[in-house]
This record gives sequence, C-alpha cells and structure tokens, in this order.
Amino acid sequence: MNRLVHCIDCDKVYLRTPFDRLPEYEWGISSASAERQGIERDDFQEFLESHRGHRLEDLQIIKDSFVSDKPYAEPVKVSYFKATNGREQFVIKRFRERIDEPLAYELIRGDYSLKCTGLQMQLDAIQKQLEREMKPPLSSEQMTAFLELCQHVARRADVNKLESVAYESSHPLEVYYKMDDLSLMVLLRNCHRLFKGRTYEEIEGFIDRHKEDGVLLLKATYRIEIKERRQAKRLEAAAVSKAKKASQKN
Ligand SMILES: [Zn+2]
Repeated sequence: MNRLVHCIDCDKVYLRTPFDRLPEYEWGISSASAERQGIERDDFQEFLESHRGHRLEDLQIIKDSFVSDKPYAEPVKVSYFKATNGREQFVIKRFRERIDEPLAYELIRGDYSLKCTGLQMQLDAIQKQLEREMKPPLSSEQMTAFLELCQHVARRADVNKLESVAYESSHPLEVYYKMDDLSLMVLLRNCHRLFKGRTYEEIEGFIDRHKEDGVLLLKATYRIEIKERRQAKRLEAAAVSKAKKASQKN
C-alpha cells in the first residue's frame, strides 16, 4: 500500500511505496551480497531524519482523483491527485523535470477542477470516413458543406448537457461525447436542406452509423485548474509550532 506522509511544519510530503524498502542494486560494481547491503538506501529514513521532531501526519489518497496532463506512458509529465487528513483536503502535485530524475511530490493547499477549453467535431476523421463510405462520393462542395455544418453543431453544443462515452482516448484530458438530441436535430435538418434524394439517404445512414461511437462523437479538451486556498491558516499553524519549539528550548 502506498502511504503518504505529510510534515505539517515544513509542508513536505513523502509517498512511501513498497519499493523504497527494496535495496537499490548497482549493477556492474560487485555482486557480493555484503557490498550489496552496503549500498541499500531507504529514502523514507532520509525523510524521517530531515524532519526529526516535526509534526507528521498520514494523508489518505482519495480514490479515482488522479489526473494528468499527458498520457499514462509518458515519463515526463505533471500529475495531480487529492489527499486528506480527515479534516482538510489537499492536492498533491507529482512531477519530474527530466526522465532520469526521481518523481517529486509537492503539497498544495487547495483543490483542482477540470475546465473545458474546447469542443470540436473530428473533422479529419469524418472526411476520411465519408470518402470511404459514400457511394457515389460527395463532391468537394458537398464535403465542405457537411464539415462546416459539423463545426456549426460543435460550436453551439453545451458540453455540460452532453453524455460522455467510454471511448479509448490517447490523452487523459480529452473526453468524447455523444451529440445530444438537439444537436442531432440541427445536423439532420440542415442535411435535409443541403442534400437531396439518394445523397440525403446516404448521409442520414452515415450519421446513424457514427453518432453513437464513431467519428461523429464530439471531442472536448480539458485543462487542469488549481485553486489554492488562502495561506492564513498555515502561517498561523507555523507560528504556533515555532512558539512551542522556542518554549521547549527555554
Ligand atoms: Zn519538517
């Protein structure tokens, strides 16, 4: 189990994983077990040493609160998750600046939210799919008109009223949504105006095939917004702690 330890006096956090108890082998130097033990390192011991006499508390990581600005497999990225001591909630920022650096953790007093920065139709994918499926093919004017119509639908849609779909996104801050009934109506009604006869029927079939889980899903892009709480409480706590230490010394 991962355990998150918080030094209240310094506001530093340490994430204790099952791994930091394992010895770190340096391959190539020597395989003699005595020497191996010599270079065994326990980062947690180091953390405890540098915060000796400080007030420490355990924080509980809040389940499913993990967000990141880049895909899971990307090694250099910033991630956030929420943690609590039972009274106060924190955001923990996890990052590394270079691939060969260890992960660092920073405690933020506050919360984060995800803000939608854009809602789009997947125009390239729609065009490719239309070229594959439409027989006879759409003229370039018809193609342009349909793509413009899709853009219009995306512009007027409200992301808060859409239903997200479990769609395999390659990016953690991209979410796919189904068109709502109103968007679908706008799309079909305008298609009826733009296309006639057989072409309209083909387009209607295309919309029907792709509206649930295909190229006609809307793609929303999100940004992680961190909101810090005012620091007054913390400064107060630090002052109390310093006063306590001073009185202990005397
Ligand atoms: Zn400390």
